[in-house]
Amino acid sequence: MSSHEQEQFLHALRRVELHVHIEGAMTPELLFKIAERNGMQMKHDIFDFSEHLDGSQKATYKEYVDLNQFLNVYTKATEVLKTQEDFKDLAYEYMRKAHSQGVMHAEIFIDVQTYVDRGVEGDKVVHGLDEGFKAGQQEFGITYLMLGCALRHLSSDECVEGIEMLRPYHERGLIHGMGLCSSEKDQPPSKFLPAFQRAREIGFERFTAHAGEDGPASYVTEALDVLGVTRIDHGINGIKDEEVFARLKEEGVMTTLCPLSNISLNVIDHLGELPIRKMLDHDLKFSINSDDPALFNSWILDNYVAIHKEHALSKADWIKISHDSISG
Ligand SMILES: [Zn+2]
Repeated sequence: MSSHEQEQFLHALRRVELHVHIEGAMTPELLFKIAERNGMQMKHDIFDFSEHLDGSQKATYKEYVDLNQFLNVYTKATEVLKTQEDFKDLAYEYMRKAHSQGVMHAEIFIDVQTYVDRGVEGDKVVHGLDEGFKAGQQEFGITYLMLGCALRHLSSDECVEGIEMLRPYHERGLIHGMGLCSSEKDQPPSKFLPAFQRAREIGFERFTAHAGEDGPASYVTEALDVLGVTRIDHGINGIKDEEVFARLKEEGVMTTLCPLSNISLNVIDHLGELPIRKMLDHDLKFSINSDDPALFNSWILDNYVAIHKEHALSKADWIKISHDSISG
């Protein structure tokens, strides 16, 4: 195939998104709209405004230095979200954009605790998001699952409380699984075992954890051994380690890569650092995802195209990635 045909093939390939945080899909335009509706000042300090040829200005989020600085911007952006309508709009806009990117199924991390701690009712968050996702499902035919999060910048006890907040939504069939998210450095997975135990008691069955993004390979092993997750989010430092790589392959663990997120947060210097060829040749299951697409200004298809340009994958390689994502 010519490179033009390859790109056309990539655009047409149906894809599954397994690693995306809903707040990370809030475009500056949507943030400004919601801020205005809620009578709030726009957070100008987190944006760059670049002038276009026609004189218009389009905002993008400022570049990031590392994960912690990114999380600071992320937190500021989420402060505009207050009403059920805000969460509905956020979810619907993600589905609209995901449709344009060829997504047929999305598993989306949602955060309830941050908003409840700010005085927003959990029902407004979860029901608003579900309304938006449902509207998107009806209009675009994209299926979805919501995954709750334990936030590792909080204490272990606070994470247990956060999981307890998810209980009613799990019982209503709205939240299907849970993950371990947020800043990883010096926050070993085992610290959050009580939260995962609570989630199991509540009845959650699907577990995933961010591990090996800016934490060591041993955090990947710990998430598998101690938390019993079946999916690893990012896992970069794990797949770079021979022993952990062998284990991920052996146990058929799905690793959700987010290549352009890793570049934005300086987790890697260039996409060639991701051992994509080796992962394909050794049949290590992985998917390619956007993570926080609006905040990184790179959506899932952008990630597919970037990996294709760096690693020159064949049609058969992409079909395998697509199949593995669906099974993961
Ligand atoms: Zn993530």
